[in-house]
Amino acid sequence: MIRIGIDIGGTGVQIGAVDESNQIIAQSSIPTRTDLPFEAQVDQMVDCIHGLLNPDLNPALTLDQVASIGAGVPGLATADGIVINCTNLGWHHVPLRDKFRSKIDKPFFVDNDANVAALAESVAGVSAGTTSSVFVTLGTGIGSGIIINGKIWNGFHGIGGELGHMILKSGGEPCSCGNRGCVERYCSATAIIRMAREQVEMHPESQILSMVQGDASKINAKVIFDAKRSGDPVAEYVFRDYVTYLAQTLASVTNFLDPEIIILGGGVSKAGTLLLDAVREEFPKYVLFKELSMPRIEIATLSSEAGIIGAAMLS
Ligand SMILES: [Zn+2]
Repeated sequence: MIRIGIDIGGTGVQIGAVDESNQIIAQSSIPTRTDLPFEAQVDQMVDCIHGLLNPDLNPALTLDQVASIGAGVPGLATADGIVINCTNLGWHHVPLRDKFRSKIDKPFFVDNDANVAALAESVAGVSAGTTSSVFVTLGTGIGSGIIINGKIWNGFHGIGGELGHMILKSGGEPCSCGNRGCVERYCSATAIIRMAREQVEMHPESQILSMVQGDASKINAKVIFDAKRSGDPVAEYVFRDYVTYLAQTLASVTNFLDPEIIILGGGVSKAGTLLLDAVREEFPKYVLFKELSMPRIEIATLSSEAGIIGAAMLS
């Protein structure tokens, strides 16, 4: 049997057929058409799945062989397959499962993309073999997923695991959610950029500015990590601040959930050992039970395929 995984993103939809050993055996993609109504977007995904099923390429690629279909969405979804909110797709309270099942009558599951990535890592990635893990994506925003005994824990209403909107600093930076001081405002790539822009305004001599030809709007997280590597003191200051916020957040996760492993994904995690070494050093300061072994902190090992594999594993 095969499972179909659909990774629905803001710019593209990746669709793959995954075999029983969690390998993608066929894959295709279509652009995200936010200009189309929801129903037409689903029709395109259904067409893409039919295009993928080609027994001439692999005898397993038939509709009969499809055990289930799963989708990861950049937003909130309920256990009964309704996408409550997917801002960058223009979806609000859309019946994704029922719409799909009216086209292809197979079990259909949908979950948040960070939960899906967390599940993928726990089966085929860095947290494989663990019984509890927390996955945190450090991107434009913050996503997170909790896996307990091989299952996504997303709470009573299916909306749990939103680490990005825990308040880290009372009265802090305003957040898109309407609150202030959320983790997302201090631990995302967007946060690094904001902190760097504030600093270069006060320290225009910083190497950061020359790296972006004097245009502060071109600063991104990679520029800050590169400037830190070459010893720029302003970049070092921003990096330290960022690592402290992230370490405090991950320590709160540990104090609250005591997971076996915490996985960092998303664009910021591409900083690799530079980030990992600093976070591993800082984080135990804020963990309550220091005499016990600390949870492992690792960088995600699955890349873009995590969205397809994790979605296919939904059940
Ligand atoms: Zn928030």
